Amino acid sequence: MQSKNWIGGEWIIPSGQEVTVKNPSRITEEVGVLRLSDSSHVFAAEQAARLAQKSWAELTGAARGEILFQMASALETHADDLARLASQEMGKQIGEMRGEVARGVNLLRYYAGEGMRSNGNLIPSADTNVLQYSRRVPLGVVAVITPWNFPVAIPIWKIAPALICGNTVIWKPAEHGALTATRLAEIFAETKLPAGVLNLVIGKGRQIGNTLIEEAKIDAVSFTGSTDTGKQIAVGCAGRNIKYQTEMGGKNAAVVLADADLDKAVPILLSGAFRSAGQKCTATSRIIVEKAIYQPLVERLQTAMAALRVGEASDHGAYLGPVASAAQYETVGKYVSLANEQARLVAESPAAAVADQGYFIRPMIVEGVDASHALVQEEVFGPLAVLLAADGFEEAVELCNQSVYGLSASLFTRDLASAHRFLDLAQAGMVRVNQETAGVEYQAPFGGMKLSSSHTREQGQAALDFYSEIKTCAIKYAW
Ligand code: ADP
Repeated sequence: MQSKNWIGGEWIIPSGQEVTVKNPSRITEEVGVLRLSDSSHVFAAEQAARLAQKSWAELTGAARGEILFQMASALETHADDLARLASQEMGKQIGEMRGEVARGVNLLRYYAGEGMRSNGNLIPSADTNVLQYSRRVPLGVVAVITPWNFPVAIPIWKIAPALICGNTVIWKPAEHGALTATRLAEIFAETKLPAGVLNLVIGKGRQIGNTLIEEAKIDAVSFTGSTDTGKQIAVGCAGRNIKYQTEMGGKNAAVVLADADLDKAVPILLSGAFRSAGQKCTATSRIIVEKAIYQPLVERLQTAMAALRVGEASDHGAYLGPVASAAQYETVGKYVSLANEQARLVAESPAAAVADQGYFIRPMIVEGVDASHALVQEEVFGPLAVLLAADGFEEAVELCNQSVYGLSASLFTRDLASAHRFLDLAQAGMVRVNQETAGVEYQAPFGGMKLSSSHTREQGQAALDFYSEIKTCAIKYAW
């Protein structure tokens, strides 16, 4: 397969640099070839998106919704082949990848329905015979910059609300998800989506992304990726006074109190830490445990980890696949070496039988580092979790909040008072009790505090606030 741009309804193969995509589960296997764009493709996409925007915004919400419903059906029809491709491209285990595609279908249907919902308020006027109301209006052309770790769901949770609000979109996916992006655009091209409403430009973040942010005439940016890039994008957008939304890193803690149901908690902890090979911004990377149950929890984690199987992403029985790329393998590998040198191993899964053929990293849980250590403070984005002991609830919350990030946090307890106190005190945009740090539902707001995001929220109704602005309207209909 070869990547392609989709601009103004036309398929364009850029003549730029070629990059071969290897399957991270079997690095000898080629999955396809990327063709990188240059700035001219960004400007072409900008023009196409601008041209299409007025008539797209003038459609009724119901008509835009109808097209989103078509996009959902097309995606459902091709769910299996898209999931297979994504799993080959970035290594997410096939069952999980199917779940991600299903989430994409649900997101499209959810936002399709929003086309028929009220989009403002009637506001009483102090004057007589005045009708005053607010309504949402689109921003215009929105740039959507997405990462590789959710190559289907993240683009859709940005594109769907952007479109239903009447914006047109220029989508720049991560290089390492660009084949999946091409296939997704092909699927959407089967619908009645008008030309230019969604445009796909594939290329390097630094080049294409920079042109988008610095030069193209866009009206807003929604970005998910690293904190450094996110901050840079925020500066660029602030300088141009355009709206931006950045979703960045996380260092999410799960707190286990002494009264927790440990048998129930352990599988949830492992899923939060190791599904998707830990490559979720909401992954559990710190497990904070009340001292009274430290040992019993460790024993249960050891037993559960011994049964956790790493395998090829296409393996239906595997719990997790490889990490996504050579770059990921190297970065996560550095943290694994650091853990081997400076921490104590608590539990690890058996090595993958296929360990030598791809970017496989054995999930591990370590202890014995203090709260300021790099393993506790820096985002690893891989299958590595750190255990920290706390004397009680207060210290556990303090440790949980001792982070520059504030994306997600969870607590395991049977005590309602502790649950509510944690929901009050945890400095995170998403706080969950007896649940994973990951897996917030699509109809609920998603986003973080502190360095984790621009303090905007995605998904649910919150996304509509980002992709529109409020116009206050008033009419004096009789003198
Ligand atoms: P990650 O470490 O997850 O790859 P990045 O922040 O590097 O995170 O990438 C997330 C997305 O941002 C990708 O689509 C990438 O191509 C894009 N990107 C990277 N650098 C820039 C930049 N300077 N401007 C705009 N987008 C960028």
